[in-house]
Amino acid sequence: MKKISVLGSTGSVGQQTLEIVRNHPDKFKIIGLAVMSNIDDLELQINEFKPKVVTVFQKEKAEILAKRISSNTKVLWGMEGLIEVASHNDADIVLNSVVGSIGLLPTLAAIESKKDIALANKETLVAGGEFVMEKSIKNNVNILPVDSEHSAIFQCLRGEKKTELNKIILTASGGPFRTWEYDDIKNAKSKDALKHPNWDMGKKISIDSATLMNKGLEVIEAKWLFDLNIDEIEVIIHPQSIIHSMIELKDNSIIAQLGVPDMKLPIQYALTYPDRIEGNVEKLDFSVFNTLTFSEPDLKRFPCLGLAYKAIEIGGTMPCAVNAANEILVDYYLKDKIGFYDIPKYIEKTMDKHKAFKYNTVEELLDVEKWVRIWLEDNI
Ligand code: MG
Repeated sequence: MKKISVLGSTGSVGQQTLEIVRNHPDKFKIIGLAVMSNIDDLELQINEFKPKVVTVFQKEKAEILAKRISSNTKVLWGMEGLIEVASHNDADIVLNSVVGSIGLLPTLAAIESKKDIALANKETLVAGGEFVMEKSIKNNVNILPVDSEHSAIFQCLRGEKKTELNKIILTASGGPFRTWEYDDIKNAKSKDALKHPNWDMGKKISIDSATLMNKGLEVIEAKWLFDLNIDEIEVIIHPQSIIHSMIELKDNSIIAQLGVPDMKLPIQYALTYPDRIEGNVEKLDFSVFNTLTFSEPDLKRFPCLGLAYKAIEIGGTMPCAVNAANEILVDYYLKDKIGFYDIPKYIEKTMDKHKAFKYNTVEELLDVEKWVRIWLEDNI
């Protein structure tokens, strides 16, 4: 029986995680749940999974929830609550699917409490990858990728020697604007960007997929997860999202991981690693998915991908600054306050202004984020 805490339990990945737990009651038990503000769905989850502890980021909502449920479940709030759930004694593994760099501190807390991490919160590694990986090695915990591309690479690399790897190839669907002309993308509203062709995802990641920043963040995530140089990470557009990613070895042999686009596959693998159990994911029928195509990403229409590569080349605190700027700008775009190409435009301006440095503490990263927020608010 594996005991799990789920951070972001009412989001898309969180709900799919609980679906897996529901289907395997003999294999998994829920210890803690954490949400931002959705207490109605959390209440249903508490009644079903009977966690020991839950936390709601917004204090007022936590207080309302505490009055509604039985006292068998402890209710917390704020960053302290998130950290307490992440480091709860009874959990073996923490699935972190919160959105944004708010996931960094609870990830670090879970690592220090010797929990394995099933990581869906890529912003954690983008903002503080070097730091997080160092700590995970020191505390001897596994960081198990939930991001479908990284899960694929992780699976492909099993049994292979790192010294025999040429490169990894991250696949990208290309998002909802893959076939759109520049001028049409320029005028696209967030409601257009939210219509992802293959994956059912939350709002922030859907916009990131439309700008290809999602793939840029994934390049940075892959660098830290697999300890690679940036020239060992290639991105290719593969609109069908059947190949979840690939590796190329020294003899030019390619190994790929395939499956229908369903997040339950990588979530379940992270929870059961190194074993596999029966899944509820549809089988891949090659008579249906009979055409797999590939093309180069277009950095003119999707400049965010190039900016992410540039950020990791500069290194230090630059990826943290870019990630923070992107989070803020995506939020503005979702509220239709800025246009689509204002996202890369202001990320680039942030990069010009930010003097990247080598960080040693998580506080330095949080200060960079604060500076980015203030700078953008003053300059948009
Ligand atoms: Mg992904």
